[in-house]
Amino acid sequence: MLTSSLASSVSRRRFLRWSQAAMAAVGAAPLFGRSAEAATPASAAASVDYYEKLNVRKLINARGTFTGLTAAVMPPQVQRAVAEAALHPVHLEELQTNAGAYIAKKLRCEGAMVTCGASAALSLATAACIQSANNCLPMNIPQDIGTAKFPKNEVIVQKSHRYEYDHAMFLCGIKIVEVTTLEDYKRAFTPNTVMTNFFNSTRSGQIDQQQWLEIAHQHNVPCHLDAAADMPPIENLWKYTGMGFDLVAFSGGKGIRGPQNAGLLLGKKSLIDLAAQNNNPHMGVGRGMKVAKEQIVGMVAAVDWILEQTDEGMEHEYIRRANVVLHALKDIPTIQSTFFTEPIANHVPILMLTYDPAVVGIKPEDVLTKLRALNPSIELASGRDNTIGVSTWMLQPGEELIVARELHKVLRSAKA
Ligand SMILES: *Cc1c(COP(=O)(O)O)cnc(C)c1O
Repeated sequence: MLTSSLASSVSRRRFLRWSQAAMAAVGAAPLFGRSAEAATPASAAASVDYYEKLNVRKLINARGTFTGLTAAVMPPQVQRAVAEAALHPVHLEELQTNAGAYIAKKLRCEGAMVTCGASAALSLATAACIQSANNCLPMNIPQDIGTAKFPKNEVIVQKSHRYEYDHAMFLCGIKIVEVTTLEDYKRAFTPNTVMTNFFNSTRSGQIDQQQWLEIAHQHNVPCHLDAAADMPPIENLWKYTGMGFDLVAFSGGKGIRGPQNAGLLLGKKSLIDLAAQNNNPHMGVGRGMKVAKEQIVGMVAAVDWILEQTDEGMEHEYIRRANVVLHALKDIPTIQSTFFTEPIANHVPILMLTYDPAVVGIKPEDVLTKLRALNPSIELASGRDNTIGVSTWMLQPGEELIVARELHKVLRSAKA
């Protein structure tokens, strides 16, 4: 060693003292030999409660993964992944590429990309299919699409699959060609067809998935499937790409329990690569749909998390929580309960409570209003047809006790 050992140990100690003080001041983790807990900036972040500062009530979500309720509740390991990602800048494209490859492997498909939601995934899927059909650059979308230069701009959709997310395709400059019968569908393909879109959970329409795929593929047209809310079951994360759908969108902020502004586009590698050209940091329709490093890492962590779960384990827990609520309400006169599960999207059991409002003294819709007015606010599912729905899958540990207590209080005190 050239420096004296004393000088070196003093300066090292000084550096350590400085760095520890600096780290403490900014609430960051030590750079070297970090312990798992020390690396979590949560302790520093917890010193300011911005919801409180902004006079925003927190809520207990017994309703579901609604955008207006800030979508899914992230499990602790996903929250930690998001917080850790914030500690360091990275090369965004490197992160996107490696995250995509990791997710594709885990979800058994050729290619994957983290988007800022299922709606963004649909836009980027459309852009990829336009590029593929027209052999054009992202910059030609949407301004040159539909002109003599790049004429291919048609997307085939079943009439009953038209939905509010059509806007995600329209912003790429496409036209929708509606079909109803199988014969319509066969006739709808033209040299200008760029893709088809299938709205998975609608269950309406005369053409099923297999027929849909088969005919499109006879024309070499890629098929996109919108499966945004269609997990659980967990196997759906690879079922649809396995069936042959070229591109499949999932929302990250629903059952997968990732960040609200994250989603997945899964499918054929060649199309995912084109979709990536339209996504940030590149200039294309996806430039305004930026996914931050925190969301990308959070989405990867959410994929890891969901693959550690089982459908049976999750369902068991949702029913256990519902039974806690039900048990607390057993002295409410005329109360009856049943479980309701949507067949495809948001496929989880919801506790449905009915009672005679004349006996109990309050209408279900007024119960919802009263619980919403609390602080923290409690959001329950629809009170239509004298029913109160309790959706337990987005509750955080122990919140079922609060829902049970407050629901009991409101129902019990109505006649008092
Ligand atoms: C929720 C949903 C979307 C949008 O998902 P985001 O991740 O919020 O963008 C798209 N399609 C369907 C069918 C949905 O249910």
